[in-house]
Amino acid sequence: MKSVDLQIDARWIAPVVPASILEHHSIVIDKGRIIDLCPTARARLQYEATQHLTLNESILTPGFVNLHNHAAMTLMRGVGSDLPLQRWLEDAIWPMENAQVSYDMVALGARWSIAEMLTGGTTTFSDMYFYPDAVAEAALDLGVRCQLATPIIDFPTAWASDAADGISKTVALHDQYKHHSRVQIALGPHAPYTVSDDTFEKLKTLADQLGLRIQCHVQETQSEVDDAVKATGERPMQRLHRLGLLGPDFQAVHVVALSDEDIELLARTNSTAVTCPDSNLKLASGLARTRDLLAAGVNLCIGTDGAASNNDQDLLCEARNATLLAKGGSGDATAMTLQETLQIMTLNGARALGLDDDIGSLEIGKAADIVAINLSDPFLKPMTDPMAAVFYTARARVDQVWIDGKLKAEQGRPAGVDVAAMARDVQRLRKAMESA
Ligand SMILES: [Zn+2]
Repeated sequence: MKSVDLQIDARWIAPVVPASILEHHSIVIDKGRIIDLCPTARARLQYEATQHLTLNESILTPGFVNLHNHAAMTLMRGVGSDLPLQRWLEDAIWPMENAQVSYDMVALGARWSIAEMLTGGTTTFSDMYFYPDAVAEAALDLGVRCQLATPIIDFPTAWASDAADGISKTVALHDQYKHHSRVQIALGPHAPYTVSDDTFEKLKTLADQLGLRIQCHVQETQSEVDDAVKATGERPMQRLHRLGLLGPDFQAVHVVALSDEDIELLARTNSTAVTCPDSNLKLASGLARTRDLLAAGVNLCIGTDGAASNNDQDLLCEARNATLLAKGGSGDATAMTLQETLQIMTLNGARALGLDDDIGSLEIGKAADIVAINLSDPFLKPMTDPMAAVFYTARARVDQVWIDGKLKAEQGRPAGVDVAAMARDVQRLRKAMESA
């Protein structure tokens, strides 16, 4: 018998690779890595685990990758409800950000978001927000993986006086975190309509020099495309391509208003597309053409966006809506299979971040980032298809969440976080933000 740290026997396992459901299998973990995935009957003969869990009514999946967030905006949950995007930004969100955003606010808001994400199975996330150093601290403290795309925008913000200042702060952050395994720094130009050609060109040069990824909101609404075409004759996607931005290290977020040519450009350049269906629905921005993106072979990922436009940080809920919208929006029930849904929220996200050798699937040798989803709710019976139970109902419940084999959340509670105390701090800070 080989001694190991942890053995999890599960009723079902969805490893993503291969794209199938294993029954009565076990994952064996030692020193934070998956060292075996085999039938439970064999694992019991072969391994002696320090901790041995039997989950008779759960399905194990890889940890989820939330590829687009503004974590600290959990503090702005509910601000500007029922406004369309431009009014929501200009009348509600930007004034509050300009007056209120500080290192301390971001530190608390990011911790609150990460705590919520962990309880929903997210083990890796990408963020785009002011004071990314505060988000990095929160992520390191709570033990999650992250890509921090620093906000670059051509006007003054609470964090940077202009794009050049944002770029120099990004370089300093990259130097600080370049050897850190769980935090990677990226560039986050806000959107084509807030960033000039000159700035995009500088970002491209810097990204090439330092090996940085770039994440940008692109073609979130049809009016964004129409305004650009009217002003310059060029669609934002064409412009980004002309400037050399598109490519395997480029992540285009929202991509709601896409032409066939835009989709072809994303596919040909091996760029990543990130869909945020709840945010697009709430702000009435439209429906992303996820079926066509998948059919074209684009690396499609998913994100929650910030809690001010969502209002939660629950990737399972996001994936459910993405799946239903792919089908309903296209009139094609095969538009997104549940295996594709699971891959979008795990392996595709890992690929976008260059982490697919390490996370994104439950394979021998990879890090033990694992989610156990509890399917014991009696109203899920009769149970013949656990994936349908996970994605087509609200009765599946994320239970245990591990990162590097360490338990990070259980039964809706993040490990090492006093949720009640943090909730009081969050409520107090929001009140102060509103009365200031
Ligand atoms: Zn966003």
